[in-house]
Amino acid sequence: MPVLCSSCAEKRAVLKRPKTAHSLCKECFFWAFEEEVHQTIVSAQLFKHGETVGIGASGGKDSTVLAHVMKVLNERYNYGLKLLLLSVDEGITGYRDDSLETVKRNQQQYELPLKIVSYEELYGWTMDAIVKQVGLKNNCTFCGVFRRQALDRGAMMLKVDKICTGHNADDVAETVLMNVLRGDIARLRRCTAISTASEGEGVVPRCKPLKYAYEKEIVLYAYFKKLDYFSTECIYSPNAYRGHARTFLKDLEAVRPSAIMDVIHSGENLSVREGVKMPVQGTCGRCGYISSQALCKSCVLLEGLNRGLPRLGIGKHHRLHEKILSQQPLTQVEERKLKAVNF
Ligand code: SF4
Ligand code: ZN
Repeated sequence: MPVLCSSCAEKRAVLKRPKTAHSLCKECFFWAFEEEVHQTIVSAQLFKHGETVGIGASGGKDSTVLAHVMKVLNERYNYGLKLLLLSVDEGITGYRDDSLETVKRNQQQYELPLKIVSYEELYGWTMDAIVKQVGLKNNCTFCGVFRRQALDRGAMMLKVDKICTGHNADDVAETVLMNVLRGDIARLRRCTAISTASEGEGVVPRCKPLKYAYEKEIVLYAYFKKLDYFSTECIYSPNAYRGHARTFLKDLEAVRPSAIMDVIHSGENLSVREGVKMPVQGTCGRCGYISSQALCKSCVLLEGLNRGLPRLGIGKHHRLHEKILSQQPLTQVEERKLKAVNF
């Protein structure tokens, strides 16, 4: 006998919600999913009427669902937001060029303006060229640091008040685990925040409206709504550490679906003992972006690439940053340390 939707009790249930285990019909699932995102937005006061909001759009399922739901809710609840899509072209042939085609179609489908900023125009390097120089082990470090700044720069160009990103509950839980495993207290304290205020000049406030949405439900939503998204993995995607955290979390979720929310809850309620040393935020001496060192990570990575010393921004070489930037010659041993590509 067909199972009836436990919400409307009229239509046939087509899915069991991973988050609540309720059997729902398509329409009731859409409604429940959208209402939860609305509740997240309202209770955390993520937006103000009249704001311009840039949706970080990669063409993947999370940001496509985010763009769709933001448009629906903006109209349904009259948020009064001016929405636009903001994409970063990392310069990855066979991956980002294809996913950006998806974003361009989304732009048409959702009738939202689109701005694409590229690593090549901002930094003079594509990820293809970076991988050629640094290999396939630390490429995501370069990519992650550059992306963060690229989104800010794109948002500044468009005079955006806020950026929202498609980070979902699984991503947040993974990040909590990764920061615990790395002992990165400063990041651990920040990573569960649903929104961040501007930390300085050139840094646009960010928020995560899908913070409490399970990845599995995002996939179901995109599937049943027949959204147009790009599902191929990045060709340079080793990111082994995140991969371990992801696999671990998926294993936990299989035994106990609430594990994702539980990890987020733990992260949200952690407090850092008084006296624990935290990095002091200042600004980069070269580009003015926020940084806890004399130079921001992005400038150090770029300097390393331009000098053919890719290890400069990987690991702890702060002592050498000063030296290299004041143009003092490096010793042979120091050069060798920074050059090695087999890291
Ligand atoms: Fe960039 Fe790594 Fe993500 Fe690929 S997997 S887009 S290289 S951060
Ligand atoms: Zn800088």
